[in-house]
Amino acid sequence: MDIANVNGYALSSPIEPVQERPFHGGVRRLRKRDVVVVVVETADGQRGVATAGASSSAMSEYFDGESQGTFADVVDTAVADALEGETIEEIEDAHALLRESDVPEGDLTEAISAIDVALYDIAGKYHGAPVYELLADEYESTPTTELDLYASAGMYMAPEGYVEQARVLEELGFFGYKYRPGIGPDGDRRIVERLADAVDDIELMLDVHTWWKLREGYDRETVRDLVVHAAEHGAYWIEEPVEPADHRGYADLAETGAPLAGGESEASPETLVELGETGAVAFLQGDVRHHEGFTGCRDAVECCAGRDAVEFVPHNFGTWIGLAANAHLVAAAPDAELVEYPVFENDPLFDTDVDPGMYPFDLAFDLIQGRPEISDGVLSVSDEPGLGIELNVDVLEEYPFVDGPWTEFRYDQD
Ligand SMILES: [Mg+2]
Repeated sequence: MDIANVNGYALSSPIEPVQERPFHGGVRRLRKRDVVVVVVETADGQRGVATAGASSSAMSEYFDGESQGTFADVVDTAVADALEGETIEEIEDAHALLRESDVPEGDLTEAISAIDVALYDIAGKYHGAPVYELLADEYESTPTTELDLYASAGMYMAPEGYVEQARVLEELGFFGYKYRPGIGPDGDRRIVERLADAVDDIELMLDVHTWWKLREGYDRETVRDLVVHAAEHGAYWIEEPVEPADHRGYADLAETGAPLAGGESEASPETLVELGETGAVAFLQGDVRHHEGFTGCRDAVECCAGRDAVEFVPHNFGTWIGLAANAHLVAAAPDAELVEYPVFENDPLFDTDVDPGMYPFDLAFDLIQGRPEISDGVLSVSDEPGLGIELNVDVLEEYPFVDGPWTEFRYDQD
């Protein structure tokens, strides 16, 4: 492929009115969600797309002062300088060009991820094949295109709010309901107890980055008690119970027998594989948007395929473009079958009395033309060439970037 143009577009999806969510030790404000759309065009007019940002890893924007707007600038300058005018024979050649480029160290993994996904989109279009077929050739696997979805929603609510969401999502046929506790140890126990009583046909997953991410984190003993308590109430997994780099902490908690999940915050494909190799996580959560694309996730997928005790289930929190990208990986990956479906307010696929969405994120849906095919909690991956999606270019005008962090934390002791 002859690369002609590489562009990054920072977009914001406002949350209006701004939401305030009390948690253990403070209040969190939600102002907007940001997405960077990366578009690669070839000299013969083929276009590939990918997204960056809009993940929980984008929390670093708040804590580290980095901005998705800055990343779009990096795409337009250093990434474009490295790739425009180049002929790419193998997609990994683009990784090498970016490693040698002026892309700042802190943006390199995200840049490689977006470019890898966009180039696979283009490669699929050249071959007239969906990305999962290209990947199935690499894995020597038989693709599965009907994929179970688990719903990812609930954050910082009274226990009844989680129960309401879980019941709606159970009714919609989802495999699981993943939620974020963090309202205090007693409240967190009550949530899982109430949920375990309330639903039968939907698995429960806890995403507990909230336990260590906030200033008033729970101490180790409390975390251990809560993990055991959740497992006793049938939790399918407990995700990110300790800080991502604390692989020893994962291993200690795994000794309780509780099923653990993690990986989304790993800084590189290499450390993602290292976490898988610890044997401490039952579910390894790589993400094509953060772990150097389809190419970067290959080692983690193969690590899991070679072990009975750990399954690859991608992290996927963001837009319908990210959903498509991670779904193609799961469709092709041996021994992977489950995909995360983030649930936002006003999801056009649902018609329910109670809205199970976390908060509004209209851009997540508007970014593409058409809708993914989801029925009874199962996603049918498109067999159209590439990622099988068409960017809705109107969003580039309709969702201008809004400066500032997407979320803010206020702590009681301040
Ligand atoms: Mg998570």
